[in-house]
Amino acid sequence: MTSMDAPLEPLLGAKTAKALETALGIGTVGDLLYHFPRRYAERGELTRIAGLETDEHATVLAQVDRVTRRTMRSRRGTILEVRITDGQRTLNCTFFNQAWRERELLPGRRGLFAGKVTSYRGALQLANPEYQLIGVPEAGGADGDEQAAAEEFAAALIPVYPAAQGLPSWSIARCVRQVLDVWEGSEDALPADLRRRHHLLGFEEAIRRIHRPADHRELAIARKRLKWDEALAVQLALVRRRQLVEERPAPPCPPVPDGLLAAFDERLPFTLTAGQREVGDAVAQDIAARHPMNRLVQGEVGSGKTVVALRAMLQAVDAGRQAAMLAPTEVLAAQHARSLAELLGDLAAAGELGAPEHATRLTLLTGSLPAAKRRQALLDAVSGAAGIVVGTHALIQDRVRFADLGLLVVDEQHRFGVEQRDALRSRDDGGTSPHLLVMTATPIPRTVAMTVYGDLEVSALRELPSGRSPISTSVVPVAEKPSWLDRAWQRVREEVAAGHQVYVVCPRIGEDGAGGTGGKRGRDAEEDLDELAPPDEGGGARRPPVAVLDVAPRLADGPLEGLRIGVLHGRLPAEEKDTVMRDFAAGELDVLVATTVVEVGVNVPNATVMVILDADRFGVSQLHQLRGRVGRGSAPGLCLLVSETPSGTSTMQRLESVASTTDGFELARLDLELRREGDILGVSQSGRRSTLRLLSLISDEDLIAEARGEAERLVGEDPHLTRHPGLARLVAAMVDDERAEYLQKT
Ligand code: ADP
Ligand code: MG
Repeated sequence: MTSMDAPLEPLLGAKTAKALETALGIGTVGDLLYHFPRRYAERGELTRIAGLETDEHATVLAQVDRVTRRTMRSRRGTILEVRITDGQRTLNCTFFNQAWRERELLPGRRGLFAGKVTSYRGALQLANPEYQLIGVPEAGGADGDEQAAAEEFAAALIPVYPAAQGLPSWSIARCVRQVLDVWEGSEDALPADLRRRHHLLGFEEAIRRIHRPADHRELAIARKRLKWDEALAVQLALVRRRQLVEERPAPPCPPVPDGLLAAFDERLPFTLTAGQREVGDAVAQDIAARHPMNRLVQGEVGSGKTVVALRAMLQAVDAGRQAAMLAPTEVLAAQHARSLAELLGDLAAAGELGAPEHATRLTLLTGSLPAAKRRQALLDAVSGAAGIVVGTHALIQDRVRFADLGLLVVDEQHRFGVEQRDALRSRDDGGTSPHLLVMTATPIPRTVAMTVYGDLEVSALRELPSGRSPISTSVVPVAEKPSWLDRAWQRVREEVAAGHQVYVVCPRIGEDGAGGTGGKRGRDAEEDLDELAPPDEGGGARRPPVAVLDVAPRLADGPLEGLRIGVLHGRLPAEEKDTVMRDFAAGELDVLVATTVVEVGVNVPNATVMVILDADRFGVSQLHQLRGRVGRGSAPGLCLLVSETPSGTSTMQRLESVASTTDGFELARLDLELRREGDILGVSQSGRRSTLRLLSLISDEDLIAEARGEAERLVGEDPHLTRHPGLARLVAAMVDDERAEYLQKT
């Protein structure tokens, strides 16, 4: 009767069950018991009002500060205005025609107040407030279940649940209590020996205590146990997946002593760094094997990942197979093709007169190629004439056939998830899975490596090839310090006067087809935008981000008048793009106003300053990548992050973090901390039962590592978890419900 799948109606009544279902998606006993408190109000400790965000449905423990009653002028009736406080800030609650509440809402009394937080003329308000006074059992806002109120507030820790209008936290608490009273527990999914080893509470006890902890210690113990369920489910799923992947057959690409790779190494104008050699050796060994490599190489911007990837691709070509490199956008694919061609020189000139003996052919394959060229490229891929194919994910993943694909390289992926990698692996290439090399410039904290990249071997390029000049970064907060922007443009002029060059980066290209550049497709515009930071939480309508096509003329007529300004973005025709880049590289342009096309593959050592406009529209790692474009020569680099965001917001904090360090690992960590946990884990706020809701990638690093160890042991002993049906169920629920959300998030 009280199994986790039991409906709530017989226990709570039709009305309440319906309310839970519609407001929070809670339909079963399990749904409700997994609807964990969001936080716990402490008796005697008021909720910090300053920490509330507008538009959130908040439950605060506060004290009545002042009550005023007015008679409405336009209509009959009264308005009761109740100001509540945390001792520092105040919140206004307004009640219409409920003058009787004045008798219970006495100044000094404390209670839980719930409602949507709004802001009116600078003052915070709770709209449609509901409340429950503490220590006043006869009082009551929404429901007057007196006994319940008294009990709910007897504990030192008052659970505060994710609530909804009409279903305040204390009503949910009462439902949970009613259900717990009749619940008989359910089977513990975790094996007893594992529980013992890690000092984990039993499942039933953990569920009871997380809802009604006596104190913080008890709560921590309950949370730890339930986090283990989550961490172990994730790790079991990943370890099993990895095992399956590793069992597949792959086309072996053994090295040959005097092939294309050897010829390439011979003419390499620099010596490989120790890291490049080390990672290169590991990759070389991996791809020689009959089972697929699954390796992630992370390395700072400029650490030389391209060479590592290219050398692996050449080994595949030497083995008589093909290699493909995938980029997230057409612009990046084209840039990769250019830089690979440059590195290869005539080694990519197979079929041309005077090409060296082992030469191969490099083919670019993107959606915007003219039909004839595209047909030829597809033909080169399927015939095997092209040893190396560079293109966008979408294209290569879905449509391209290869004669014999040995190695897939995926570059610069911030957003590639396990699922997408699986899609790549499951290409039907004659029954084998190609070797997979993923490269990222975003350093990956250990927990993310164990989760989002849990199916990959991770290796890192820790050193940069040559001593690069330091980059200093400053935030230009135009909202508070408008004059700083003038100063920034002044600085740009000084830099140009000193013979240097400057990038100005904008988040957007501008009007479709505007600028007379023959802009044919809206596609690249979207591509430039698709890696931007998520929109601000709760912010109302924002103006669109500034655009290259607006900014360039404004600068030319204004603060940068007289300077030679060029424009670069993904919608320019390829020749024009090349011309602009060549001119900039040759020093014939002082300022390049561009989109994120400058993010990758642009190398102009004389460029010393980068001004990023609307910097808040970019993500942390993207900003970090962008600024890697300056300070590449002997002169130090300067990056200015311009934003209208008010200081003190999390957005501004993000920019300050980027300004505060150039250590990629540190930034990755900050990024993780600044993003809401839910964004990373894909945790839905609703009460769906199997979603991950306790595990934190930031603070549960050790727990996740331990769970990984246990998962490896368990899968090693019992690959299909037949001896652990509870665990198998845990994983099944997790994979069904979470796969799409959780495993794809990066
Ligand atoms: P990223 O890791 O950001 O993709 P790249 O592969 O584009 O970095 O390399 C950045 C630059 O450094 C390129 O111009 C590349 O030719 C150069 N480079 C790579 N490896 C070395 C090395 N060992 N010594 C000197 N320069 C190198
Ligand atoms: Mg690169």
